[in-house]
Amino acid sequence: MKVLVVGSGGREHALCWAISNSPLCDALYCAPGNAGIADVATLVPIGSEDVDALVRFVQDNAIDFVVVGPEGPLVLGLVDRLTALGVKAFGPSAAAAELEGSKGFMKDILAKYGVPTAFYERFKDPEAAKAYVRKHGAPIVVKADGLAAGKGVTVARTEQEAFEAIDDALVGGRFGAAGAEVVVEEFLDGEEVSFFALCDGENALPLASAQDHKAVGDGDTGPNTGGMGAYSPAPVLTADLQDRVMREIILPTVKGMAAEGKPFKGVLFAGLMIMRTPDGPVPKTLEFNVRFGDPECQTLMMRLKSDALAALVAAADGVLDSIDLRWHDQTALCVVMAANGYPGDYAKNTEIRGLDKAGAVENVTVFHAGTKRAEDGRVLSVGGRVLGVTALAPTVAEAQAAAYKAVDALDWPDGFCRRDIGWRAVGR
Ligand code: AMP
Repeated sequence: MKVLVVGSGGREHALCWAISNSPLCDALYCAPGNAGIADVATLVPIGSEDVDALVRFVQDNAIDFVVVGPEGPLVLGLVDRLTALGVKAFGPSAAAAELEGSKGFMKDILAKYGVPTAFYERFKDPEAAKAYVRKHGAPIVVKADGLAAGKGVTVARTEQEAFEAIDDALVGGRFGAAGAEVVVEEFLDGEEVSFFALCDGENALPLASAQDHKAVGDGDTGPNTGGMGAYSPAPVLTADLQDRVMREIILPTVKGMAAEGKPFKGVLFAGLMIMRTPDGPVPKTLEFNVRFGDPECQTLMMRLKSDALAALVAAADGVLDSIDLRWHDQTALCVVMAANGYPGDYAKNTEIRGLDKAGAVENVTVFHAGTKRAEDGRVLSVGGRVLGVTALAPTVAEAQAAAYKAVDALDWPDGFCRRDIGWRAVGR
């Protein structure tokens, strides 16, 4: 197969790395890719949201299979365009991508099909939203309906904070059209975990659990980021709980989307809250994403023993029941290296040295995110999140030690990382 992966982050490097090892893969392209991806794929200089140019490239180069990494091109309908042309693609249609693109749509689907989640209501009118806050009291959660680059959710500790979040979105227009409607929902208390499942429109196949670290600073302090690290599996999601998540959350959602005429194909990434109750732990849905998480994907690909490409193709073909995935029982842990200043303003075009030394640490793979290779061969940082140093080891503590050994082998004074990725699992 000639395969195109769309995207340029650590997630796409991990996907390219796994796909390039598949016996089904004859040629691999990545648009636009990065310096690390260039080691396993041919880079194509087309932005991931330039749908017209991507479609033209696929046609001109007789690409057999397209794997879409980020949500942007999914919501823009890249998979619909390819499907109409008879090109196979991994990822949902624009209509199915609304599970991530609109929180209101997602909550309505969950409510209609009885999937456990926080109680909620949708609002366009700020006064009505505030009345709902007054009725239920704080803590309470206010969410912009649309894609808001991870900034659209306010967990309000007080009613006043909730009022401000409502005004920001509905009156101040802080999120533009993405915030013209809000979801106000019940605050759920518990431990968060991510769970990933492949879906083929009718069926779903469990992948694995992971936990990420959103805050920029050690001890989960400071502003939120795209993710500073992750590990898989997450011990909180026991085998029993995973079965329950498949039964109560993933499968009813997939069946519901099919019943709505919007069959979901691709990877369903469920953000879950595991609530402690007198009857034991109860999983509830916080959100869905319609693509792999970044950096969770790096840890999943490190753990996957089976042919990743075969599984993605089976999801696109609607034949997931033909796939039996095998996993390393070990823990994979990814430490993100970011440019100094991230998630605020950060320096670009600084040189990263020591990549060979870091990559030579046993059981470590250094995935690239915001990197490019200069004409003179140097690797430069060009994004906020720049590298995902990922280790696979028998225990989370060993994976953590190996990842930080590789981090310490890097020579990049203009970058930083958290030093405590995996703390929760190590402490368990
Ligand atoms: P979301 O993008 O909807 O996952 O929200 C981002 C983050 O906000 C989540 O990862 C949670 O930490 C938090 N969050 C969202 N919804 C709730 C909720 N109903 N209760 C408590 N925390 C929430």
